[in-house]
This record gives sequence, C-alpha cells and structure tokens, in this order.
Amino acid sequence: MQSNKKILVLPGDGIGKEVMSEVLNIINWMEKTKTVSFDVSERLVGGAAYDKEGNSISDETMQEAINSDAVLFGAVGGSKWDNVERSKRPEAALLRLRKELDLFANLRPAVVFDALANSSSLKLEVVKGLDILILRELTSGVYFGKPRGIKKINDNEEKAIDTQSYTTSEIVRIGNVAFDLANKRSKKVFSVEKSNVMESGLFWRNVISDLHKKKYKEIELQHMLADNCAMQLVRDPKQFDVILTDNLFGDLLSDIAAMLTGSLGMLPSASLGEIDQNGNRSAMYEPVHGSAPDIEGRNIANPLAMIMSFAMMLKYSFDMKEDSELIEKAIQNVLNKGMRTADIKNNNENAVSTKQMGQAVIAELNILSGK
Ligand code: NAD
Repeated sequence: MQSNKKILVLPGDGIGKEVMSEVLNIINWMEKTKTVSFDVSERLVGGAAYDKEGNSISDETMQEAINSDAVLFGAVGGSKWDNVERSKRPEAALLRLRKELDLFANLRPAVVFDALANSSSLKLEVVKGLDILILRELTSGVYFGKPRGIKKINDNEEKAIDTQSYTTSEIVRIGNVAFDLANKRSKKVFSVEKSNVMESGLFWRNVISDLHKKKYKEIELQHMLADNCAMQLVRDPKQFDVILTDNLFGDLLSDIAAMLTGSLGMLPSASLGEIDQNGNRSAMYEPVHGSAPDIEGRNIANPLAMIMSFAMMLKYSFDMKEDSELIEKAIQNVLNKGMRTADIKNNNENAVSTKQMGQAVIAELNILSGK
C-alpha cells in the first residue's frame, strides 16, 4: 500500500452533496486501480447537520476533523436556514473549522484551461495559458482585529470600528508559505498591501522584505499596492505567479482572479495550517463556490472545482503530485474533447450532467493510466 491517509468528507448542503459524490467515485477508482488506500469517513455539516444534530457542526465532527489528515468540504448554506441564530447557521461550521484547525493559509489557484479560454469575460490573449496562485492570510487582519463594534458617541451619532492588525509572526508564517510555494513554481512572489496609506501595510512590506533577505534570496520578490494589483489582474494577469496578501485584500483579489477563469464551477481551494513537530499540517480542501440552491437536485452542477480540490489534497497533504497531475490532465482532456456542464458551455453547445462529467473524468483516467 502506498498510503493510508485519513480523510474526513463533509459534503454539506445543496450541490455540495452532488459534486462530492463524483469525488468519492474517483477515490474508489484510485483504490481499485492503484495501490493506494484512503481511510474515508463522512459526516454531516452545515444545514444538513443543523437539521439532524442541532448545530451546523457537532463537537464529534469537529474532533474528527482535528484527528484527520485532511478535510474535504463540499458547500453549505441555503435560504431554509436564514432565520437560524448566527452561531448555528451553516456558514458558522466553516468558520469553526478554519479557526479550530488554525487554517491560516488560503490557496486559490486561478488556472485558465485552453478549452475554456473563451468563457472568460476578458480577451482570449489576456487569459490564455493563465496559471496564478493567490495566497490569502485567513485567520487574522481586519476580520478578526480588536477592538471592533459599533459605539454610541452621543444621542445623534454612532461610530463603527474594525481593526486591521497583524503581528510579525503572523506575517512571517504566511510569508514562508508564499516563498515555499513560489519555489515549486516560477520563483516569483508579489506581496500586496497598502503601505502608502496604512501602518499595517508598511509593517507587512517590511516584515516580508526582511524574511526574503534572510531566507529566500533565490526567489524574486516584488511589492505592489492592492489597488494597483486589482487593476493589473484584469490588465495583464499573466505577469503574476504567486500573489501573497492579507485577509481583506485577499478576499477581494481572489474573487477578481476567479472571474478571469470564467466560472465558479472551475475553482478549487486549499486552506492549510502550521506544520507541527511531527511534520503534519491540518488542511481543508473545498471548491470556491457555494451550495447553489438555484440548481440543487438537478444533476447539472459542475463537479470539476470539487474534483480539483481533491487533486490539491493529493498534492499538498499526501505528497501525491503524480496522481494529482493525472487528475488535472484527465480534466484537461475531457474539456478538450468538448464535454461541458451548463455553466461553462457556449450557447451552441450541449451540456452534460454532473454525473456524466464525473464519469468522463474517470473514463479519461482509465485511458491515461492504460486501464
Ligand atoms: P453560489 O456559489 O452557491 O452560487 C452562485 C452562482 O453560481 C449560482 O447561480 C450557482 O448556480 C452558480 N454555481 C455555483 N457553483 C456552481 C457549480 N459547481 N456548477 C454550476 N454552477 C454553479 O453562491 P450564492 O448563490 O451566493 O450562495 C448560495 C448559498 O451558498 C448561500 O447560502 C451562501 O451562504 C452559501 N455559500 C457557501 C459557501 C461555502 O460553503 N464555502 C461559499 C459561498 C456561498
């Protein structure tokens, strides 16, 4: 057996369950055709967990996530749970997982497959061949900084406060991830902040410069202001490779980068924690899209973002780069052969279903591996 890795599968709500089912078929294919073994367990999360267990993530599920080598997450949410108290809402499960697993590094690749370059809202020559990675700090910054809240100043006036705050160690640990990732790619990091107008931006720039000088001289480092980065991402996205940025700017810039690729159904993501003394790190993999209640149960959701999230898991959690690339290659071939789910098809093309797309990827895996 090549590996025996513990995966916690959390399909969630809406199309989360439908796209996860296609990944489980790929896991079965891998176990049958290759000498790989996974220890897979599945649990409820989000609205589905709230309905059955009274909370969007139970303590038992959280403990199982902590004990797993990696978590594979579908999507959560839906209007059915709009009136549930905030701490028990489907999205609260996601926040609890990120917080308790200390998933501080969020990796969002934006890759344009040749066959889909026409789906982008930008010109073909601007996006063709695009392959960039946005690395967003996920557990600090303005979404968590204190003080925060709304204060009364006098009878006529209130004041809202959010605090952008970063410590040296928080910036260093995300910086290390950025430089290590760049080392395996084209050795180029763009560090993005607002050092022209924010103290925390200047601090970020200085800490990243020091880290670069001390440990990563072989990597090219460029600093860029966040507003310029937003503009450059739509003007000439191929100039980038790894973009390193904080929680707030990463939230915005990763959505811009997402749209360069054409569809939410094509975007995977990984969230990684710190490496512990045994060399292990907690990790969660999930598509960028949500539970898409508008298409739930119709067998038309695109499963490729979920499948690519699983491919990222193989690469980053299990050191199975070859298997990860095999899946990516299978997806590329399926798209080259014209298979399209409804979200990525052109007007004159026929759409395949979620299941047909999943089966096509497995058929291609069989061809590529000579089965
Ligand atoms: P969404 O990502 O679910 O859907 C946005 C649009 O994209 C919809 O029209 C949907 O049909 C389409 N779409 C998304 N994924 C697709 C796929 N794989 N294939 C084809 N089309 C796809 O975002 P939303 O509509 O804003 O939110 C719906 C629910 O999902 C809400 O409850 C929201 O809170 C939740 N949500 C969850 C997550 C998560 O679990 N990580 C992320 C975003 C939104």
